[in-house]
Amino acid sequence: MSQYDVIVVGAGNAALAAAVSARENGAERVVVLEKAPRDMRGGNTHWSGGVLRFAFDDPREIAPLVPGAEEQIENFYDGIAPYPYDDYHGDLMRVTGGRTDPVLSDILVRNSKETVFWMNEVGRVPMEPALSLSAIKKDNKVIWARGLVVRAKHEGVGLSRAWFATAEAMGVEIRYGAAARELIVDDSGKVSGVRIRDDDGMHTLNAKSVVLGAGGFEANVQMRTQHIGTNIGNAKVRGTPHNQGDGLRMAMDIGAMPTGQWSGCHATPISADWGEFAPRELTDRSNRLSYPFAVMVNLKGERFVDEGEDPALFTYAKFGRAILAQPGAKAWQIFDTQTLHLLEARYSTSDPIVADTLEDLLELLDIEDKAQALRTLKAYNAAARDAGEGFDPTKKDGLETHGDLKPPKSNWALRLDKPPFHAYSATGGITFTFGGLKITEDAQVVATDWRPIPGLFCCGEMVGGLFYDNYPAGTGLVSGATFGRIAGRSAANAAQG
Ligand SMILES: Cc1cc2nc3c(=O)[nH]c(=O)nc-3n(C[C@H](O)[C@H](O)[C@H](O)COP(=O)(O)OP(=O)(O)OC[C@H]3O[C@@H](n4cnc5c(N)ncnc54)[C@H](O)[C@@H]3O)c2cc1C
Repeated sequence: MSQYDVIVVGAGNAALAAAVSARENGAERVVVLEKAPRDMRGGNTHWSGGVLRFAFDDPREIAPLVPGAEEQIENFYDGIAPYPYDDYHGDLMRVTGGRTDPVLSDILVRNSKETVFWMNEVGRVPMEPALSLSAIKKDNKVIWARGLVVRAKHEGVGLSRAWFATAEAMGVEIRYGAAARELIVDDSGKVSGVRIRDDDGMHTLNAKSVVLGAGGFEANVQMRTQHIGTNIGNAKVRGTPHNQGDGLRMAMDIGAMPTGQWSGCHATPISADWGEFAPRELTDRSNRLSYPFAVMVNLKGERFVDEGEDPALFTYAKFGRAILAQPGAKAWQIFDTQTLHLLEARYSTSDPIVADTLEDLLELLDIEDKAQALRTLKAYNAAARDAGEGFDPTKKDGLETHGDLKPPKSNWALRLDKPPFHAYSATGGITFTFGGLKITEDAQVVATDWRPIPGLFCCGEMVGGLFYDNYPAGTGLVSGATFGRIAGRSAANAAQG
């Protein structure tokens, strides 16, 4: 007899959504295997900002998620634009160059609102307006980034804590320090258990079905280097050190099919001052995402991206990689006083370098070619504009550089001429990897013979095919919960079947 109905590998947002869903759908004996010790539990979900992108037609539809928001924020609903299915799906298509998996992306977007309500109602995840991340104040009105209004209360820390509490309250057993090593397949080809390693050694756990939610390979330097390249191999890791690609390897060992962009990842500009792994207590405070209001130069003194191509939450996931490709994997973000008030609060975790002239500022930076940097900034300033010409930080304002500046700055191209000037360092930090496993609409893992593997389901970062080159902020958690919920339901059904 099986010890468990469902084994869930991993304990992040996706895995715990799967465990809760399995219980909700009738699986009685559900266990969650968390490789990390208890004080490091929760995967990237703990480190996350907890922001949730979902589709809605009328801003007032979100009211049950954020009770009291109108009292807290004046004219709350006036600053929120509708974000219907077509806009969310359109954003996903646009940032992935049209490559997102048509079936999976439809499931994700179509279920996004219902998933967030399910997280709130069944998962008991309290939520709040994502004020510090996705809102900008304009003329005394708070304007929200489209589709990004709600986050888990107390961000990823609160989200993770809520999932554990709910899973435990629903009778899910959680084993800490339990690293899944191998999937067991019976003679019928069905996955029937997991070999694990814990403090006491190796054990075999049997189950009627298994859900993998063990994250990607972002913390594994060998896999990063092999699949994505040396620049990303050298990247700092923004989240958990435990996502080492174990789940992907175990599944492929029994014939699961890899899919999606194995050479791609989410990597963002972060402070260059941070260590190899982000400290757990500082979660996502390393991000340096106010660059649309800055000029970024590399150590050769050159610009290398269009800082104003799109709002940061549509470019941040690819610009980390762009910085990693620069000499020394480093850049400087330079602001003047007219945009300092727009800096995200997270910039307060490091001290800027400040000077009254651009020449003096460059003297203080570790830029190798300072003369080139000054030429770059002067050329930028000659092509840039005044705030009076229509600068608007709440939307793509079309305030672009004149002439043939390369690369151009397509929006928010304000001249840097209001001292003192502030410089913040930036490098690229990897968040998660895009390559994953092929799954069916029921989140069942597909084998390289194109047939589903009986008893094996998968969710979260391990799902391949959704993201290519880039990613719209706030999609990872909603995708994780959507496919986690489906995987848990499918695993429960398989266990009862
Ligand atoms: C700094 C940061 C900020 C972010 N902000 C946001 C945001 O605001 N909004 C958003 O949508 N997304 C955000 N993300 C992305 C988001 O966190 C991830 O998409 C999401 O958490 C992935 O969930 P997951 O459950 O797939 O993986 P994880 O949450 O990483 O969980 C993986 C789990 O598997 C466990 N594990 C790994 N290997 C094994 C093994 N062999 N055996 C047992 N357990 C194992 C890990 O310990 C962990 O518990 C952010 C990520 C980071 C790092």
